[in-house]
Amino acid sequence: MSYLTLAGLQKRYRDSVAVDDVSLSVEQGESVALLGPSGCGKTTTLRMLAGLVDPDAGTIRLDGAEITRLPAHRRNMGYVFQSYALFPHLSVARNVGFGLEERRVGRAETGRRVEEALGMVRLSGLEGRRPRELSGGQQQRVALARALVIRPSVLLLDESLSNLDAKLRDAMRHEIRDIQRSLGITTLFVTHDQVEALTMCDRIAVMKRGRIEQIGTPEDIYERPATRFVADFVGRANVLPADRDAKGGISVWGVTLPARAPQGGEVDVFVRPQRVRLVPVSEPAGEGMVRLTGRVERSVFVGDHVEVIVAGTGGQLSVEMQSGARPPADGTEVAALWQARDTLVFPREAP
Ligand code: ATP
Repeated sequence: MSYLTLAGLQKRYRDSVAVDDVSLSVEQGESVALLGPSGCGKTTTLRMLAGLVDPDAGTIRLDGAEITRLPAHRRNMGYVFQSYALFPHLSVARNVGFGLEERRVGRAETGRRVEEALGMVRLSGLEGRRPRELSGGQQQRVALARALVIRPSVLLLDESLSNLDAKLRDAMRHEIRDIQRSLGITTLFVTHDQVEALTMCDRIAVMKRGRIEQIGTPEDIYERPATRFVADFVGRANVLPADRDAKGGISVWGVTLPARAPQGGEVDVFVRPQRVRLVPVSEPAGEGMVRLTGRVERSVFVGDHVEVIVAGTGGQLSVEMQSGARPPADGTEVAALWQARDTLVFPREAP
């Protein structure tokens, strides 16, 4: 049995179902991201885990015991809120030690553990400051230290990095991941940021309208999305309307693809821009390759890569070239090649 198990969790509000039959098993020491668009039920799921929201149905088990109805303070879970929720009138040390005071841990032990937790988040020396005397990133670290100091069975992070600027967010991602790994702490975090999910966890649960669409490693989710929604939400993708031929095959821009289509209905082909390579039109397709031709419409320098837009008979194709590579001049006729196995086919969505 897994360390933490959510089975058939459901939460309804008056006019909507926020979480609809969510089941998830998390191993001890594992870090799992709940990823999805705004309103898909991520935070409600996390809050049910923390004991801050009562589920209408379903069970939560931790380390062999059912905790579905256990009050929040008896679950030993560390929760880091998006807004940090620090006490403004208390010093950093008192903020961090708060959970220990509540648990009636002795003074000396509290002092020792607060110091240790502040060391972990690299805030030693700032014990006496008030939250308003700290930067956003430092406040975020205090909130993290406060969650870690109780030595939680599970660490829950709710969009905890979203108030930080891009550079700090990136640094904190690595720091939190390092702390999580070195302590071996079971972690669930909520995010709508795919980079955060891809870089900070062992597995991702992608949520849509209160349900989990797919659970898998970051590689699974990115390389083998199970549904159109996942393919669209995680990473960038070209979406090319496909035609079916009489023999059940599919074609894009008049080119038959060595890919299979799901039964019935219209389909679209997905291919990631960085999986497409541009070559001179004289170059044929190799074994197992898809080859479309078109004309370069424009190239845009995006810093870490160059985006080249190719226009063909059936629309546009975006191609990512490494920065430093020279894109073909606008108007050049080119062939766009990709491995057939990088082709994803999904039913077309109703508009
Ligand atoms: P976000 O990324 O915007 O925080 P989320 O995926 O975390 O979104 P939730 O906060 O779990 O989503 O909300 C899921 C749905 O439940 C939303 O439609 C929301 O409006 C609704 N909801 C959440 N909390 C309440 C509440 N206390 N009362 C009524 N409806 C709520």
